[in-house]
Amino acid sequence: MATEIPFILDTLYAHHGRMEYEGPDDLLGVLVRTILSQQTTRHNCTRAFDNLIDTYYGDWARIQRAPLEDIEEVIAVAGLAGQKARRIQAALQRLDEERGEHSLEFLRQMPVDEARDYLTSFKGVGPKTAAFTLMYAAGMSAFPMDTHILRIAKRLGWIDESTSSGQAHRLMEERIPAEEHYSAHMVLVRHGRAICHARNPDCHACPIRAQCPSAQSA
Ligand code: SF4
Repeated sequence: MATEIPFILDTLYAHHGRMEYEGPDDLLGVLVRTILSQQTTRHNCTRAFDNLIDTYYGDWARIQRAPLEDIEEVIAVAGLAGQKARRIQAALQRLDEERGEHSLEFLRQMPVDEARDYLTSFKGVGPKTAAFTLMYAAGMSAFPMDTHILRIAKRLGWIDESTSSGQAHRLMEERIPAEEHYSAHMVLVRHGRAICHARNPDCHACPIRAQCPSAQSA
């Protein structure tokens, strides 16, 4: 199976296109954006993040001290605004108290597991949010599993049906070469959106049908 993964990824790159990692980004900004992205579309997440940054001039200290209901209003388009506003302000407050600055750049110096443990110690930051932040902002060898990737990995037999999200992150991180994490994440999300749907996957149009043990019954 491990030898199949590179072949399957190459086939998916050929079919959907390959996106390359575009370089580092601000870790705290990516974390906040990823919190906003939970259970909403990318479009609404971007609108909420841009509203937040524009309203407070990109000043994390002002965002931390603003009334909660003001933050909720500014990010309302992303949904779950109360919960997300509380989590963002709590993260900013903790960084302020612990480190005296609103920055996560120190994570770049940590081993990936230590950085992941630090991020998941924030309320509302699970394995997917932590892995995406570390992969996207710092190019670290973390592999975020969203619902599309979890579904595809189970259908392909890369992980068992009973594998938890936390276990799946670590298993797939080991099985997919570190230099492929970003491109593999992006192409698997595309594949899940375009072909390997949760309901009624379009197996006849699937370029990896011959390698998929779920193709006949899906
Ligand atoms: S063959 Fe069907 S179930 Fe398997 S990966 Fe392709 S679309 Fe998904």
